[in-house]
Formats: sequence, structure tokens, C-alpha cells
Amino acid sequence: MELNKSPASPTPGTGSTSESPSANNGKNPGFSPDNPPPGCGRSPERATPARPRASPSVTKVPQYVTRRDALKALLALPLATLPGCSKPNHFTGEIVGASAALGHRVRELAAIDTASLSPQTTEVVIVGGGLAGLSAGWRLMKNGHSDFVLLEVEPQTGGTAASGTSQVTAYPWGAHYVPTPGPDNPALLDILGEVGAIESHAAGGTPVFAEQFLCREPEERVFQNGQWHEGLYPGDGAAESDLEELRRFQAEVDRWVAWRDAQGRRAFTLPLSQCSRAAEATALDRITMTDWMNQQALTSSRLKWLVDYSCRDDYGTTADETSAWAGLFYFASRQPAPGSESAPLLTWPEGLGRIVNHLADALGQRVQTGLAVLRVAPSTDGRTDVIAWSAAGNRLVRWSARHVILAIPQFIVPYVVPSLPADRQSACRAFEYGSWLVANVHLSGRPTNAGFEPAWDNVLVESPSLGYVAATHQTGRDHGPTVWTWYLPLTDRPPREAREWLQGLTWEQAAAIVVKDLEIAHPDIRPLITRLDVMKWGHAMVRSQPGFIWGPDRERAAGPWESIHFAGTDLSGIPLCEEAIHHGVRAADEVLQAT
Ligand SMILES: Cc1cc2nc3c(=O)[nH]c(=O)nc-3n(C[C@H](O)[C@H](O)[C@H](O)COP(=O)(O)OP(=O)(O)OC[C@H]3O[C@@H](n4cnc5c(N)ncnc54)[C@H](O)[C@@H]3O)c2cc1C
Repeated sequence: MELNKSPASPTPGTGSTSESPSANNGKNPGFSPDNPPPGCGRSPERATPARPRASPSVTKVPQYVTRRDALKALLALPLATLPGCSKPNHFTGEIVGASAALGHRVRELAAIDTASLSPQTTEVVIVGGGLAGLSAGWRLMKNGHSDFVLLEVEPQTGGTAASGTSQVTAYPWGAHYVPTPGPDNPALLDILGEVGAIESHAAGGTPVFAEQFLCREPEERVFQNGQWHEGLYPGDGAAESDLEELRRFQAEVDRWVAWRDAQGRRAFTLPLSQCSRAAEATALDRITMTDWMNQQALTSSRLKWLVDYSCRDDYGTTADETSAWAGLFYFASRQPAPGSESAPLLTWPEGLGRIVNHLADALGQRVQTGLAVLRVAPSTDGRTDVIAWSAAGNRLVRWSARHVILAIPQFIVPYVVPSLPADRQSACRAFEYGSWLVANVHLSGRPTNAGFEPAWDNVLVESPSLGYVAATHQTGRDHGPTVWTWYLPLTDRPPREAREWLQGLTWEQAAAIVVKDLEIAHPDIRPLITRLDVMKWGHAMVRSQPGFIWGPDRERAAGPWESIHFAGTDLSGIPLCEEAIHHGVRAADEVLQAT
């Protein structure tokens, strides 16, 4: 999902800007809870900030107000017994990944007799093979410490940045891009250098990024009123008042990009640890993004859609639920200077799976997969015991380490470290997570295309999904077979209910949701689908809710306890790969300083 790119924006349109329900131009009948398609249902969404550019005409406004209802309608679709919903699929697929059953063992096995297990000894055990854990191992190795193991519950590393591959292309299952980092992020710059994304350095040491990994044009397009349009701002039919608000919003973002505190720190930068803690900036964390928009008298439904899309895109929460600090961070942190474009994006067919695979290769046999860590406990000899369940061996295994790095989401920590002090446990419980449904749709060819040409990121205004990313885009293959990665954050119900709903979803139901959504823009897509796989991310990402980022729990959870060090992107309160890498490196540095 994408950041502050200039959304090919709009010149004033001729139509009105009323909040009228969306209307398709007849190519796709407009479905809504009140107007379902024959036998089924469906809905809208997506975006980034902008600077006005070209534009079309017509008059349709995104259905910002009814997004929650629209998502409910989409999700209700496969569960309904409406006539016409039971068409058998000619394609196959499966639900992949996320070993929920293994994860639940962590909770079930509260009392484990480990005394009889003879331990393997090592300096450091890293738990979790996502970007945080892999980065921790990478940092240890860079500093000459190779006596460690990394234990990962899944059969493959990567966590939410994992990827898959087919005969046609590799493709992401979660994280798919990273903006080119600035000088505040030397670790990420090092890693990008190693994966070949930096080809040289200009005068002054400024990195020159390799062209083939910078997201190829066109980066994004938006489907509005039955047509694709360039960029992300839904500018079709925008009035001068809409564009004036867009400019005013961008001016406000520019003001924050220029802002510095008494120590010269930016309000928003990556990693978050480098951001100013001045009250003027952190006060934004006390209100929602919607509150902030209201305070600024920003009421254009197009702008609201763009901002809401951005929140759902990066954080999986609506603007009504997202901290205004996080909302502005989305736009301002990756903009190098006021008035400039956002930092360009780096991407690969497999998304950030490229970085995952590089780091995992560097760690080599120290990475052990299929091992669910059930218990981490300081022992009387000053070392730390780690107990894991081996899926392949169907047995418990034990390590004794001088240090442990827990690079797992905080909600798991109290189960794995039951001896953690009560205040630390309660800090972990303050972390809330949203759920996502992700699908990889394998296509034998491309469907017909109305309007602007296919892009890397393809967003549907009139859908609650985030649309899809084309895995073959970066390699220049614009015709023939491809894989599209389709994303849907579940924002229509409380997190626990969303997880329960997701847990019960069958492959057939998920496939029906995905196909119906894609048919909004591609009515002839169904016969082209050869396979459709689904990932249920129950705890996809930490929710960036008001009060959490600059509240006490996040930092309390991040500090070391005994010889246990904590990593994980959620410790920043915002779910970005830069933060995962930062925390992995920080935790490794804590270990290095203690040894
Ligand atoms: C759908 C989606 C799209 C995203 N897109 C982007 C994007 O484009 N750009 C971006 O910057 N960020 C994106 N993100 C966020 C990004 O993926 C994360 O911020 C980052 O990858 C998190 O890394 P992590 O290591 O902190 O956590 P995780 O990825 O959650 O990794 C934790 C690992 O620990 C393992 N684990 C958990 N418990 C145990 C246990 N008991 N024993 C052993 N192993 C265990 C898990 O299996 C997992 O592999 C996206 C996230 C999602 C869900």
C-alpha cells in the first residue's frame, strides 16, 4: 500500500460534488446493501495525498459514508443462500499459511515439565523469523556473533512479509514495497545495498537506487465510475472546491514535513524512534484522523476517501479509528522536503519477500523452521530456557541461551513468558491487532481494461478491498499469465469478531468474495482464473489507535527484561517493515552491548 505518491489528480470537473451514492456508468451495475447484484452483493475504496494533475469529467463521488455497510455487504455475500451464489468454480486453490493450530498450542501448554529435557546450548535464541527476527540475526552476524539459532513456527520464514512462487512469477503474501529510505535509516540502507537495490553513491554519499527495483510506471490507478484513472485520488468529476481542499490538505502535510522541534527533529520520520516527542506533534495521537480532518474543515468526500483509504492501506483501520498522528505520519514521514514528491518505492515481484529471502540465506542453517516456541523462562543459572515444539519431530526441544530475542507479536508474549511481571503483561495486552484477508489470484491472461492502462497497484473506489497489486508489473510483463495479490482489511467489526469470522471462512466463501470484488472492474475475469489461494491473517497488524503510539504501553513492552529482549514491528505501534527491521537491529544491539 502506498504512500504519499502524487495521485494523478484532477482538474475541476463539470459535475456536482454532492455526496450522491456512487454510480457506475453502466459497465458495472452499482451494488449496495440496497441494490445487490443478481443473487449476491458487493462494495467500494483506496488512495494517497496529491497534487493536482490531469483529469477527466463526470460526476461520481466515492461512497465514503457507507464504507462499513459496503464491507458488511461484501462479506455477507458468500454466506448468503441467495440464488445465483452457488456457481461452482472451475479453478482450484487452498487456504495457506499461518499455522493457527500451532500457535494455539502456545496457549494450551501452560504447564510444561521441562526438567527431563537436556538442553542444547547457544549464546542467543531468536524467536520469530519475520523481518524483525531475521534483522536481529543479520545484525548479530555483521558484528561477528554467529553462535545463535532462529526458531520459526511456520515452515518458511518471512511472517507477514512472506512470499510464494509459481511457474509464472513470485508474488507477495503481505508486505510488498518499501519507500527508498533516508539517512535516518542506516540499517535498512545496508540491507538494501546487499540485495542490490543500491547501485552506487552520488557525491555526499547519497544512495543511487537501482532502476529495475524502483516501482515501474504506472504505479497506481483508481477505478471510479466504470473506468480506470491514473493515480489514486478519485478525481473524476471533482469540483474546484474538492481540489482546493486537496491543496489545503497537502499544504498542511508540507507544514508538518517542514516542522522541526527544538532539537531539530522531524515530527514524522522513519524509524519512529527518530521522531520528535514534542507535545505539539504527539498531541495528534490523542484524536482520530477523522477528528483532525474535521478540525481542519476538510470535508470533501473525495479527500476523505483518500485519507480513509490511506489509513486502511497502511494500518488496516478506518480514519475513524486511526490516530491522527499515524494518519499524518503516512503522508509526511516519507516526503523528504516540503513540496517534494514522496520517496520513490522499491518493489520486487515477491514484494519484501526479496529482503526476507536474502536475510534468511545470510543466516543459513541457524534458521530452524517448524518450531513453535512455547516457553521462555529465566533459569537459576543466569541463563534462559527456551522450550519449543517440533512439528516434524512431534516432540519438545530445549535450548539454554545467554540471551533471547523475542521477535514475535506482543499478544503472544505473555503466553510464552508467563513469568513476565504483571505490569509488563498488561502492557502486552494493550496491543490490538486487525485482521486481513489476502488472496493470490493466478490468471491465464489479462481481462479487458476500461480506461487507464494497468498499473502496479490497482485500486477500486467502490470497494472495501484495497484492490490488487500485479506481480508481473515490475518485470515489464504486461500481457499473458500473471498473479494478482488482492488485499482486504476487515474494518467492519471489532477485531475479535473479525478474527472469529475469518477463522470460520471456507475457501469457497473467500474465493466468492475475491472474485465478486474483482468483477467490479473486470466483469470478464472469472474464466481467466486458474488458481486462487487465500491467506487468513488473523493478527495481521497492530492497530494504530488514538493514544497508543505515544501512550505508556508500547515503550514499556519494548524494554528488556532479565536476558530477554523484545523486537517486532508492533512495538512501534505502526505496522511497517522499517519498524520491524529497526526493532530487530535494536534488540540485537542490546545483546551486543550486554556481551
Ligand atoms: C497484508 C499485509 C500487507 C503489508 N504490506 C506492507 C508493505 O507493503 N510495506 C511494509 O512496510 N509493511 C507492510 N506490512 C507490514 C509488515 O509486513 C510488517 O510490519 C513486518 O513484516 C512485521 O515483521 P515482524 O517480524 O515484526 O512480525 P511478523 O511478520 O508477524 O513475524 C513474526 C514471526 O514470528 C513467528 N512466530 C510467532 N510466534 C511464534 C512462536 N511462538 N514460535 C516461533 N515463531 C513464532 C511468526 O510465525 C512470524 O513468522 C504488511 C502487513 C500485512 C499483514
